[in-house]
Amino acid sequence: MNTYNKEYKEIFKRIAGSSIKKKEYILDRLNHLKTHQGLAYALMALYRQQVESGFVLADPLKYKGREEKHFFDHKTGITFCLQWNPDRELRKNHKLLIKRGVISEKKEKRILVNLDENQKPCYLCKANIDIQNPNEILLPISLANETYYAGANFAYITNNHFTLMSLEHRRQQYHKKIPLVLNDFVFCTEGIFRAVFNCLAGASIKNHEHMQIFTESLPIEKISIKDEDIIYQKDNLNVSQPYYYLPVYVVEGSSKNRTAGAVDRIIQSWHEIDNIYHTENIITTMQDNQFRIFVLLRDKRRLTGKWKKGDMASFEAGGHIVLSCTPKTSGNNEPDERKLFESADIESVKELISTIVPEKRLNNIDFKSV
Ligand SMILES: [Zn+2]
Repeated sequence: MNTYNKEYKEIFKRIAGSSIKKKEYILDRLNHLKTHQGLAYALMALYRQQVESGFVLADPLKYKGREEKHFFDHKTGITFCLQWNPDRELRKNHKLLIKRGVISEKKEKRILVNLDENQKPCYLCKANIDIQNPNEILLPISLANETYYAGANFAYITNNHFTLMSLEHRRQQYHKKIPLVLNDFVFCTEGIFRAVFNCLAGASIKNHEHMQIFTESLPIEKISIKDEDIIYQKDNLNVSQPYYYLPVYVVEGSSKNRTAGAVDRIIQSWHEIDNIYHTENIITTMQDNQFRIFVLLRDKRRLTGKWKKGDMASFEAGGHIVLSCTPKTSGNNEPDERKLFESADIESVKELISTIVPEKRLNNIDFKSV
């Protein structure tokens, strides 16, 4: 655990307490923190500022209305988490979004870029955020020689939850550099943050490449890996396929490039079987200077879980099930997530995850020359 000295704690506090009107001052201080105390500390300061200023719609550290249930599963070693998070629903409250400066009230005359087929400007292009999301502060981060921006997620799932978006407007889809960007990010935060890429299983914005970053661990990080689960091992690179309710590969090693290369090999092999429907969730973590990356194989035809609304993303695939939605009217066929939360047990959690298991299997992966 890092220790932060008094001077930097003071800067952290000043950032957290600053009004959004001091955007330039905040960015200047954040860069100072980033240089002297590392990226993770700067991100946590920014997140606090975004909570204190009201941009993040509710404070993740205040447990008002939020409930959690935990189920230990001895077969996988994982303690699954069901989170009842009514704060997530605040994102649908238009008036509140305007009040908090999440979205702009006035009709914008300035030019917005990259309109989609419905003439809606891209939500993740910095140029549009600067105009449309007046209270959002984006922190630029250089990863694998490319610029990304971190912006606090106004409807959080966990504490310090950001969206990380590419500077360039390009589609949300897998490419070779993705695992390296994720690795570089967790490396720059010394493993304090996790990084996940939903690809096309759980991402709500498909027109702009983005990832999620946050500080809480995911249940899958505790998965038990036995010797017989190892499918490749060479020079401090381990790939294993432990028992789980979704096909998962765990890549471990100290090399940023080689672990990213092994992840790429798995994903390319998965796409080779079916390049229309196959997609993936990637969860990247770092512990004791070792990268630990979880690659979950997904199928675009199996995105929603039984009894749950919306697509299952990396959080759910990683054992952290987020529930917030109750139907507005009774009698329609909308899933009631509160009911699911109340009646859940380990069997229903396993069943929920099993409903998104892809049709096809991946058998042979060639890790030679990784
Ligand atoms: Zn964009």
